Amino acid sequence: MQMPFVDAHLHLQDPRFKGKVNEVIGRAKNAGVGLLFCNAIKEEDWSEVTTLAAAHREIIPFLGIHPWFSDTAASGWQHRLMATAETLDQTIGIGETGLDRSCRIDFDIQQRLFAGHLELAAARNWPLSVHCVQAWGALADMLSTFSLHQPLPPVLIHSFNGSTEMMRRLTELGCYISYSEALAQQQTKLHQTFTQTPPEYLLLETDAPYAKNPDRKKGPNKDTVNEPSDMVELYCHAARLLQVDTDELVTRIWNNATIFTNQNAAGC
Ligand SMILES: [Zn+2]
Repeated sequence: MQMPFVDAHLHLQDPRFKGKVNEVIGRAKNAGVGLLFCNAIKEEDWSEVTTLAAAHREIIPFLGIHPWFSDTAASGWQHRLMATAETLDQTIGIGETGLDRSCRIDFDIQQRLFAGHLELAAARNWPLSVHCVQAWGALADMLSTFSLHQPLPPVLIHSFNGSTEMMRRLTELGCYISYSEALAQQQTKLHQTFTQTPPEYLLLETDAPYAKNPDRKKGPNKDTVNEPSDMVELYCHAARLLQVDTDELVTRIWNNATIFTNQNAAGC
């Protein structure tokens, strides 16, 4: 049986999808995408993300505050996140959260906010979706220190572009590594890291609408966005790099995604 495609990280609530999100989701479903991890990036997104998830059973809502918006985190956010989660009758995740040294927000503030997300996810064993830019050592240190005292929740490192050594360190901690359309670029180092990733920790994502394939950005419209139906192309590209059948990769990633989100008892 052909399993559905998974988009392990995207933002359907993004203003660029406004007024057309149902068409975007419809195209994804028609293309065979059957599981989408839709990530909030700030507290004002939470209600839209949960509304989308209530309307489409393929969507798992991830609630959190992105490091770029760390300074918008108002006191009591964890409490409000839990209150929102309790209104839902479905699996939820925590995110998008993480660390980003390329943004202007104070790194201590980012680390405190990320620790808050990590604690929340660990307390419920909810999946956690993590963004990391130029902060790999700090991220791995925070995760390994945490794991000395308490089991980590299921962790997904989204749009991974770190080194092979960092991929190894993170997978040894049990983290899933999600690759985006950057795989379609001629980046030999990223290709090597991708092909060496343990198959049981592999995931794929569009990070829509944030297109990462430069081919998609060519042409007069620099604002070109990607969307979850683009997963099909990404799976084909990834299967070629791994030298496996696309069907085999589809099954592998479906299994990984359902274990990551605790939907498969065999994986718990
Ligand atoms: Zn994202």
